[in-house]
Amino acid sequence: MAVPKRRTSITRKRKRRTHKKLSVPGMVECPNCGEMKLSHRVCKECGSYKGEDVVAN
Ligand SMILES: [Zn+2]
Repeated sequence: MAVPKRRTSITRKRKRRTHKKLSVPGMVECPNCGEMKLSHRVCKECGSYKGEDVVAN
């Protein structure tokens, strides 16, 4: 099995991991109230979907 010739430096390790990040999927801004919401879901702040109020407040 191939063995690394030298130890990976802290800088190199950190640089490699700059591409590795958590992503919050499908978050969009609500066109009604401007809050971040999941796309294709009713906004939980104002209860709107496709520009209509679908949840009675
Ligand atoms: Zn909203």
